[in-house]
Amino acid sequence: MLAGNQGRWSVLLAAIAAITITTSASAQKAATGLPTDAEFQSAMQRAYSANKAVTEGKNADYIPALAKVDPKLFGIAILTVDGKVYSVGDTDHAFSIQSISKPFTAARLMSEMGVQKMEDKLGVNATGLPFNSIEAIERNKQQEEPPTGNPLVNAGAIATVGNLKAANADARWNSVINNLSAFAGRNLSVDQQIYKSEAETNTRNRSIADLLKAYEVIPGSPAEALDVYTRQCSVAVNVKDLAAMGATLATGGTNPLTGKTVVSPDVAAHTLAVMMTAGLYEDSGTWAYDVGVPAKSGVGGGIVAVVPGKYAVAAFAPPLDEAGNSVRSQRAIESIVKDLGGNVFHVAKRPAARPSPR
Ligand code: GLU
Repeated sequence: MLAGNQGRWSVLLAAIAAITITTSASAQKAATGLPTDAEFQSAMQRAYSANKAVTEGKNADYIPALAKVDPKLFGIAILTVDGKVYSVGDTDHAFSIQSISKPFTAARLMSEMGVQKMEDKLGVNATGLPFNSIEAIERNKQQEEPPTGNPLVNAGAIATVGNLKAANADARWNSVINNLSAFAGRNLSVDQQIYKSEAETNTRNRSIADLLKAYEVIPGSPAEALDVYTRQCSVAVNVKDLAAMGATLATGGTNPLTGKTVVSPDVAAHTLAVMMTAGLYEDSGTWAYDVGVPAKSGVGGGIVAVVPGKYAVAAFAPPLDEAGNSVRSQRAIESIVKDLGGNVFHVAKRPAARPSPR
């Protein structure tokens, strides 16, 4: 009899505990508008397990040091606007930020010169041509557009660095690295091996910088702008850093880990718009159509995507597809965003409106 009562009590207590957990999860969801811890964890785990064994794609090799990175590495991190971190896989592995640096330095330039002037000077339209295209510069020039196209192709990114307020090369570099560090919430530094490898082989970027000087888009030394740009691309980050950088845009410009304001909500919004238009090279339209979140990829294998007002998700896996975007990072982010309903264009169907009585 006693044993029977005990059995009933434990069933009752387990039921109460289950109800409490469910209610606190839905209370968390209702209070923050964010998915619950369990939803974040399971979406992330699912994306990780489904893509871990994928071997498609190839490391970038036009920068020799990138070809040597272990292609099996794979990590994912999510950071919410209220500072919660979820991560799985090779989350502490440092890799070069490459083009993912570009929107964050563009955000700094927008803060310095104003969003309108940045648009007039560098443009904000997709070029439809590869990220390092010289033809795109000439075409834009002929069409009386800013020759650079936008701040996320190499021309625009080199010009972004060249237009920052700085009295000399050191000041220019400090402006770049301090800004990237503020977005990441910790002091970042350069991977010297990547920098050396890229600086020895970046002849095409040198031509772009010189051409932009000829078209008067870079006010000072094109060699200085190029060198600071090359160092910027060689900054070492891990996926948690990228998630923090993205989450700083997701909050409207305040780093959720440090509480420091890095850019204004207006600048954050304009930065996200450029990421939506040109963040994944020539596949930016497909990405917006299929996934529906602003993102930026880099040839090092990283991608960061932002769900404004909610969270950022970053992934890293070195092998790239034909367009230069990490295969596993794209798939993992797409899976997470879909599971969590993050597409910014999706609106939940409204219940049919009842005709009001006359
Ligand atoms: N540092 C690389 C370059 O200038 C960046 C390319 C990228 O990640 O898209 O070629």
